[in-house]
Amino acid sequence: MPLIKVTCQACGIDGELNNNIELDEEADFFMCHSHTDYSGAEVHALFCFSCGSINAASLDSKEELKYLLTYKLDGLDLEKWCIEKKVSSIAIKKLKKHHYLE
Ligand SMILES: [Zn+2]
Repeated sequence: MPLIKVTCQACGIDGELNNNIELDEEADFFMCHSHTDYSGAEVHALFCFSCGSINAASLDSKEELKYLLTYKLDGLDLEKWCIEKKVSSIAIKKLKKHHYLE
């Protein structure tokens, strides 16, 4: 799978992802599946470790991201979001290390 180019729509930092948290442990982002939108497109959530924003984006057939919206969650809301999106334990550990989660 090719690397996915990511740019945080809130702070502008960019990076490349394998879409695999185990491979992307040092990256400034992690990506997880968010939901399927009305048109059937898979929407992914990209968490930016630099500013704590979540970028919702769909991945097109050329593995390019189309950004939909950017939002921020904190504390309990972020914790709930992680459970809802089934965020991996590696990503949770990293969120804690960066003090986005208690
Ligand atoms: Zn950011």
